[in-house]
Amino acid sequence: MKIVTRFAPSPTGYLHIGGARTAIFNYLFAKKHNGKYLVRIEDTDKKRSTNEAVDAIHDGLNWLGVNSSEKIIYQSKNLESHVKVAYELLEKGFAYKCFLNPEELNHLRTKSRENGIPIKSPWRNNNSISENKEFVIRLKMPLNGTTTINDYVQGKVSVKNEILDDMIILRSDKTPTYMLSSVVDDNKMGITHIIRGDDHFNNAFRQIQIINFLKWDKPLYAHIPLIHGTDGSKLSKRHGATNLIDYHNMGYTSEAMFSYLLQLGWTTRDDEDDYEFNKVVKLFALENINKSPAKFDIKKLNNINSRYLNNMDTNNIYKLIIERFELILNIHQERRLKSLLPELLKRVDVYVDLKDDFEWIIEDNFLCKDENKLKQLKENNLMINEIGDLLKNCEWTKETIDHCLKTYIQEKSIKFKDVGPIIRIALTGKTNSPDLVSIIYELGCTISLNRLNYNY
Ligand code: GLU
Repeated sequence: MKIVTRFAPSPTGYLHIGGARTAIFNYLFAKKHNGKYLVRIEDTDKKRSTNEAVDAIHDGLNWLGVNSSEKIIYQSKNLESHVKVAYELLEKGFAYKCFLNPEELNHLRTKSRENGIPIKSPWRNNNSISENKEFVIRLKMPLNGTTTINDYVQGKVSVKNEILDDMIILRSDKTPTYMLSSVVDDNKMGITHIIRGDDHFNNAFRQIQIINFLKWDKPLYAHIPLIHGTDGSKLSKRHGATNLIDYHNMGYTSEAMFSYLLQLGWTTRDDEDDYEFNKVVKLFALENINKSPAKFDIKKLNNINSRYLNNMDTNNIYKLIIERFELILNIHQERRLKSLLPELLKRVDVYVDLKDDFEWIIEDNFLCKDENKLKQLKENNLMINEIGDLLKNCEWTKETIDHCLKTYIQEKSIKFKDVGPIIRIALTGKTNSPDLVSIIYELGCTISLNRLNYNY
């Protein structure tokens, strides 16, 4: 059997990190089995669906590298076939027209809530036509027996059919509901495995009735627990960003995000911290999806991201930075930035935090502008210039630069802390930065000496 999975987001907002994780699971499962992974945009709710949201879904999936290579399916294009199935169910006696007016429906709802019984319209057993021409089509849920789903994550769960509502499959304006459209499309697309959030687990027991009535092939299910915040409540904005692309904007790498989202809810016995794409494709199994909700912990993501940044090829991270900050550099500036990047990356979680370092690295004529720091430079101008003079005559290697600084400290009987911070400010305008010798060396003789021989 060729495995076919799908990610079926509704384009009503941004791509939530929970949705992104669902996409990753669907993608990996299909890839692992040489199957097909499809993306279906569930855009039937025209009032709430927007083009921006569709773009956001594509941008997010592309960033993570889990977009489908197949044609994207737009559910709204299939509406006719959904309506056709609603009428087929009606004709075969598995559904009925319900002519309740809003008042009657309200009454029925209240009654069923009060008595804890499912909604079954009196029109279920009434084949006549009402004066009221407006009707919805409801599914005639079986009254006996049980429905059992053997879910990869939730396990084997049985539900008595008598508790199922006669759900609406076609609204009075002749538009199909999600409960119908989703099943019809899954069938048409040949979906073999439905991997989605466990907020849809209840729906599965109802949707499966349509599949049973029409004798369609039953898909297998994996309903994944939702992502929670560190306090154990359902993840919301107060726990941090829930929009996937915000993480891109904040400077997380897609590799780190992919790895972390996968770890949120999936573990292997292979105790690896980082889930590298190609390795994970081989290992992925639905059985390893965790049964309890995962907790989104930004500290863990930061650790992973920082590890990725430090292991990344300098050319790749350089490219990311240049694109993000739209920097246009000459070969000298490029060399300086590239050579200092490994040191700089040790100090940040996200590469966007490097933005304060670009100026002193890139600008040939950089000068510290902060007034308080300038005051310090003025007070120590003599020392700065003396060190500049010493360096002027030294061979430009890290060893000799180091030796020069040490000799100066020794001769003056002072400590490194009397020199280091001031020189650092003169060169970078900052009080914390990578190792001083590396900075002097990588900035090069001309630039370093300009900044050290300056009259502050
Ligand atoms: N469109 C639904 C949602 O965004 C998903 C439906 C499904 O996976 O069956 O929640």
